[in-house]
Amino acid sequence: MAKDKEKSKGQKLQDELSFSFEHIGKIRPKDIEPSIEFCEGYKTFMNSSKTERECVRTLEAMAKKEGYKLFDPKASYKSGDRFYYVNRKKNVMLVTVGKKPLDEGIKFNIAHIDSPRLDLKPNPLYENTEIAYFKTHYYGGIRKYQWGTTPLAMHGVVVLKDGSCVDISIGENDDEPKFVVSDLLPHLSAQQNKRPLSDGLKGEELNIIIGNIPYQDDDVTEPYKLMALKLLHDKYGMTEKDFTRAEIEMVPAVKAADIGLDRSLVGAYGQDDKVCAYAAVMAAFEIKEPEHTTVTVFTDKEEIGSEGNTGMASRALDHFVEDLCDIFGVKARNVYRNSICLSSDVNAAYDPTFADVFEKNNSSFLGHGPVLTKYTGARGKSGSNDASAETMGQVIKCMEKENVIWQIGELGKVDEGGGGTIAKFMGDNDVDTVDLGVPVLAMHAPFEITSKLDIYHTYKAFCAFYR
Ligand code: MN
Ligand code: MN
Repeated sequence: MAKDKEKSKGQKLQDELSFSFEHIGKIRPKDIEPSIEFCEGYKTFMNSSKTERECVRTLEAMAKKEGYKLFDPKASYKSGDRFYYVNRKKNVMLVTVGKKPLDEGIKFNIAHIDSPRLDLKPNPLYENTEIAYFKTHYYGGIRKYQWGTTPLAMHGVVVLKDGSCVDISIGENDDEPKFVVSDLLPHLSAQQNKRPLSDGLKGEELNIIIGNIPYQDDDVTEPYKLMALKLLHDKYGMTEKDFTRAEIEMVPAVKAADIGLDRSLVGAYGQDDKVCAYAAVMAAFEIKEPEHTTVTVFTDKEEIGSEGNTGMASRALDHFVEDLCDIFGVKARNVYRNSICLSSDVNAAYDPTFADVFEKNNSSFLGHGPVLTKYTGARGKSGSNDASAETMGQVIKCMEKENVIWQIGELGKVDEGGGGTIAKFMGDNDVDTVDLGVPVLAMHAPFEITSKLDIYHTYKAFCAFYR
């Protein structure tokens, strides 16, 4: 009080009229401990969810443990019932039935569980000068030069001739081999150094080393390739032709880790957008008796434009909502019209080392909480959902009611670049939608960085939204 008396008239007016976002560690230090604790579970989640398929399995196991039942379109459901639906092993919907009728609207929270990576080509295996390799085609927006000399693990599925589907995973356990893309030594990179950074490593140079010992038979023309095939056959029963029936994803063979002397940050592969997926699933578990029915969606293919029948551009969610509508005897269009959706996706955290690309007044900062992103897009908001003032108001009100620390953010300076999320697809469905998620440093890199305080407050924001 004494301090307040010393304030001038102008200072008081400033307090009343102006506004700034602050670091949670400064204004809410009591949240540091719970944020560290919350992220122990997050790191475990990340280590078992390197790909969308693995993330679906992790989510399904978590949901079952929480008492969720597999969705039955012929069942009848009542307030408080919880169930889940899995679309083609890559996309999950978690539902908690609310107290209000379904056509008063659903609260949707949608995060994506695919991340940028190197996919194997359909005919990937070859040898060159006594080294066996995989050819790759990158998935999503990567900075290709970052993927050289990074230890990689092999994940995925292969459908064998007999139709059986085999899971593949090599390189995550300490005693398993890793794989790697080579790069030039500095002594011989004079010409490569003159390339633009975007071509530091070119797409067709992202070739993964998988072996260097020949099959022992002088009559074999490609013994290094054959050795790799034999080892894969021994382990998985697959042949070269089976690569044409496979989805194999090469991802960084790194575990999630605390970053910093103060352990304030998390470093991990695939935090875009599994950090929001984790906060979303934990919030779905927390809110057991919501007013409005909650539908938490974990979607695939966001990184390549939400295409395909496991992505948000498809009708898969729509069909699922139609199933719910049939059960409750309501019209889907009434449900959508009254619904609200958080497109829970990450945004770029302000990076002081690369300050040039950010506009500081409209950037999100590590430790300032979840970032509410009104619009994404590029070149004049093109391709953006651009949330309405009313939708912004509604979400901010939810957060402030429960003392969530949040911030706003734009993806860099105007015309510096751009990006998009699933928000526009929910807009297409006639649903009020806005992006809310965790700020990330080094987004889409093999190792991305987030703040534990942000992750914890994102979880709190999602709880507040559902409550
Ligand atoms: Mn994302
Ligand atoms: Mn992304």
